[in-house]
Amino acid sequence: MNHEFTYQRDRMVRLVEGRGVSDARVLEAMRSIPRHLFVPEHMRAQAYGDHALPIGAKQTISQPYVVARMTELLKVEGGHSVLEVGTGSGYQTAILSRLARRVFSLERISDLAHDAIDRMRQLGLENVKIQAFDGTVGWSDMAPFDRILVTAGAPKAPQPLIDQLRPGGRLLIPEGGRHEQRLVVYRKLRQGVRRSAGEAVMFVPLLGRHGWEKEQ
Ligand code: SAM
Repeated sequence: MNHEFTYQRDRMVRLVEGRGVSDARVLEAMRSIPRHLFVPEHMRAQAYGDHALPIGAKQTISQPYVVARMTELLKVEGGHSVLEVGTGSGYQTAILSRLARRVFSLERISDLAHDAIDRMRQLGLENVKIQAFDGTVGWSDMAPFDRILVTAGAPKAPQPLIDQLRPGGRLLIPEGGRHEQRLVVYRKLRQGVRRSAGEAVMFVPLLGRHGWEKEQ
């Protein structure tokens, strides 16, 4: 099944490479995950274009370049335990599963979480655990995490996520307004955190106790 769309997948990877993503492990992970299995069946032909696509419940699978760039910025290592907030289709989750030791992912919409769990099973990605609940509170039972990735836009980084980061760890989150954010990296130091803001992005809102209260 992974041999389907091989040509399109290679072309997608060359495209994100052309846009400046150079981490070989990230590019290899993107070459290995069949993105067409993460979009609605009638959209499979569009799965390898460099754009976001609707996945139902008013949510989207992120653009390949953004997935690649965020994964690169996260600097995931083989021994890491990673928390992802915003499973969506599970595509980003699958990419992380190829790079980390364990991936924990939270999605507030149960239907999306269940579909993503099925996809992980179908692809045999056994180091992933997905649950349906508000990810802005983190996953304290599984903390601390070496890396945390938020894939929805927040007014600011939820404090519970910063608290659940291991010292030396990194949190990456689109931070800003409802319609445009910046990719912000938090690095947890021995004392305090260091924040650095990078490129502009557009994500659906992070809704929840420590995110936006309402959709609009
Ligand atoms: N990375 C995903 C992918 O590859 O398909 C795309 C994620 S989509 C842009 C953002 C997701 O975050 C949506 O599925 C949305 O339901 C979810 N989300 C929003 N607020 C959340 C919260 N508080 N906890 C967990 N998930 C949340």
